[in-house]
Amino acid sequence: MDETGGNGSLPPLSNYRLGKTLGFGAFGKVKVAQHVLTGIKVAIKILDRQSINDSDGERVRREIKIMRLLSHPHIVRLYEVIETQSTIYVVMEYMNSGELFDYITENRRLDENHARHFFQQIISGVESCHLHLVVHRDLKPENLLLDSKGNVKVADFGLANVMRDGHLLKTSCGSPNYASPEVISGHLYAGPEVDVWSCGVILFALLSNGLPFDDEIMTVLLAKIKSGIYTCPTYFSRGARDLIRRMLTVDPVNRITIPEIYRHPWFQINLPRYIGDHSINTSWSARKVDVRVLEEMDVLGFNVQEVIGSLNNLWQNQATVSYSILLHRRLNNLSSHEDNLLGSLVTWTHFFCKYAFWN
Ligand code: ADP
Repeated sequence: MDETGGNGSLPPLSNYRLGKTLGFGAFGKVKVAQHVLTGIKVAIKILDRQSINDSDGERVRREIKIMRLLSHPHIVRLYEVIETQSTIYVVMEYMNSGELFDYITENRRLDENHARHFFQQIISGVESCHLHLVVHRDLKPENLLLDSKGNVKVADFGLANVMRDGHLLKTSCGSPNYASPEVISGHLYAGPEVDVWSCGVILFALLSNGLPFDDEIMTVLLAKIKSGIYTCPTYFSRGARDLIRRMLTVDPVNRITIPEIYRHPWFQINLPRYIGDHSINTSWSARKVDVRVLEEMDVLGFNVQEVIGSLNNLWQNQATVSYSILLHRRLNNLSSHEDNLLGSLVTWTHFFCKYAFWN
């Protein structure tokens, strides 16, 4: 197998069986597909190069670059990017239960426990973005996708940007209903605070199936957002009201931060340990090769030494893509994320005994 997977003459999607179209985006469609070697379903975003102008192309490239950085249970994972002269295929984790937007619409409003469960996962994913210096800038229920286990993941990094030391951002982007006062006013902002505002609007929407700031006339909507005045329905608990008030604070300097959200009493209720102790931030991005996945690949007929070689060289080929898809399924399937590191260590020793060629 060579650096490109050794299949240069095959059609670009020869490793996938394409299925139905899941939806249409700004630059192309998204289809479900089966990864032939592992049998695992993926989603493939198909982008037609001809219909993408230079600035859109820049946006797509930035989205891909950012997605490559992120590996977290509450962020949609990028597996590989296949480029041909006419098309860019972005292969990613398949979220089979659609958008949080449709879920809220169908279920009207969620009870507080249910809303908190989603909200904790969203904050955990957003925190990981910020730790990787990525600010999403378009957080809204349409960009939060659900899997069959009722987990929510942050998706669509098309408007995201990377924060740089000493540089402030200015671009106004995203849906106005979820945008912060400083963004719609065209002021400079550091980054994380605008995502916090959007998450405040999302929490309000989860609990009420409504929006804190809304109006058919854009100028009126923008004025409402800048005023920061909204009304919570009477059934919101005191804790939820307090957290939303702190997130929807007009002055970004006084707005609650992600670490402060973690410490908020309403957020702390039923907080899963893997989110509360931040252990996933290390286990999901660990560079160490997962031995159980290698064992699975051994069974599938891969040459484990070649797999390790490809991983070490950071190649994108059949082996590393299959590894990445299998690893992601394994991490997702762990009923408790805490056993993740321990499990790896146990099998690590086992692996040494079995193959004993690690350098
Ligand atoms: P946009 O360009 O508007 O941001 P996308 O191209 O990201 O939209 O997505 C288009 C459609 O495909 C949306 O309906 C979205 O819900 C769906 N979709 C996107 N990514 C995935 C995924 N990983 N799994 C399942 N559905 C997805």
